[in-house]
Amino acid sequence: MSATARGQPKDFHRYHIGTAEAPPLAGAPGRFSVKISTVAFLRMAASLVADSRSLGDLAANFGSRPCIYGVYDGTFGGLEARESLCRGCLRCMVEHPDVARIEADPRYKRLGDGYWRPEQVLTIWNEAATGKIPVRGMGYGGPFKGPGFDNIWTDMSEIVRPTRDGIHGREYISTAVDLGSEPMPLGPEVAPLEPSEPIVTLPLPIVFRALPRRVIGSPALEAMAEAAGTAGTLIFLGVGDCDEWLGRRAPELVPLVNGQNWSSRAWPSGIRVMEWDVTREALLPPLEATYLLPKVLWSFRVRMEPGFEDRVVELARRGATCIRLEADLHGSEWGAARPRHLTELLRSVHRRLVAGALRDRVTLIAGGGIAAAEHVPKAILCGADLVSIDAAALVALQTEWQGEWRDPGQDGPAVPRLPAGWAAQRLLNLLCAWRDQLLEILGAMGLRDVRRLRGEVGRAMFADELEREVFEPLFGRKRGSGG
Ligand code: SF4
Repeated sequence: MSATARGQPKDFHRYHIGTAEAPPLAGAPGRFSVKISTVAFLRMAASLVADSRSLGDLAANFGSRPCIYGVYDGTFGGLEARESLCRGCLRCMVEHPDVARIEADPRYKRLGDGYWRPEQVLTIWNEAATGKIPVRGMGYGGPFKGPGFDNIWTDMSEIVRPTRDGIHGREYISTAVDLGSEPMPLGPEVAPLEPSEPIVTLPLPIVFRALPRRVIGSPALEAMAEAAGTAGTLIFLGVGDCDEWLGRRAPELVPLVNGQNWSSRAWPSGIRVMEWDVTREALLPPLEATYLLPKVLWSFRVRMEPGFEDRVVELARRGATCIRLEADLHGSEWGAARPRHLTELLRSVHRRLVAGALRDRVTLIAGGGIAAAEHVPKAILCGADLVSIDAAALVALQTEWQGEWRDPGQDGPAVPRLPAGWAAQRLLNLLCAWRDQLLEILGAMGLRDVRRLRGEVGRAMFADELEREVFEPLFGRKRGSGG
């Protein structure tokens, strides 16, 4: 790598995801419903015309519509209000009470399910529409603690110049992560890594995990593959779901194979990562698979169910360098009487790997229940190296479901008709918005590299632990806190 006179590498380029407007599909519910009285609106329009002495006057009168968010900027103004843009500031209602009335949209409350809250769905819709960080501007009015990810507060006390500058372009905060690891000299009880596996570097710590084609359909799968290719990341999917574009999209596809189907096809040379479906009977792929595909990194799919930590430790001891952990779509442990959340599962397996001096030998990809940008850094500080997103990608494609949806293998919601190009752009916008928010949080923590965040629980406070260790000794147990 050569350097310029100013010391910057000549072939250096800053990672960038191209965003473009991809507005919501027509008829999507917004948070607010805008009711316009047609008669009052026409009366107001007529009076504006009567009051205008010139065309310039008329344009100025109509141009001073009381909404800076563009709700009334369609061709027919208030007669076709664009409700999805309404922020509920109530200015129009205050200035023209006879014309406009703003109400809560009843369809908004029905978005999501027991895990996905309406505001999370709408936030993803907005991020996917613009690629921008959502700005609330009205302060946070919600609770300060809750289950799962809401039990974690991140420590932002190190807002320091170098990393703040990184967000705005003068310095660089790296969001790159590695899949796989270099062989390391370790104790005699740990298997040597031979031959050394390749390392795949991704520019951001997010990959797609596609749900089965029979559940979500081909257009959604193709959109995810296209977005993964453009953003330089990967899409993990069943091998039967990617047969027809395996050759064309080999670098971004990670086919999931098992003992029955791994050998039944010719694998293209461009493929970088394969995934083995770990079962009780088959922990590792057959030796001939690894020799037939020597330049391929093997990832191992492990369901997060009771005792999965033993399986992960065993895999790491046997030489696995990349393990993808799957919780259900609500981020809960599979098949447990008292399921733990993804955050607890990650902390548990991370601690086990650290205790076995294995943590640096293996990359952990965590998925299931990642429903907001803040969940990415929270999952990483609990012990993941990167995350996979599943239902979030479908939400970005404006898929709505009613009732609980936990198991990706079960019939899921109907994905809407996806206009050409729109779906992939929505997913790229989502990746960009989430990466920008990750940069914000890394900057606020004073970190220049997302790899430094892995397992850094010192950067977080856990509400339950604080209550137990700090507040209960002082104030006693809160009523209704159980136990
Ligand atoms: S409430 Fe505010 S954001 Fe909504 S339409 Fe009226 S002026 Fe626009």
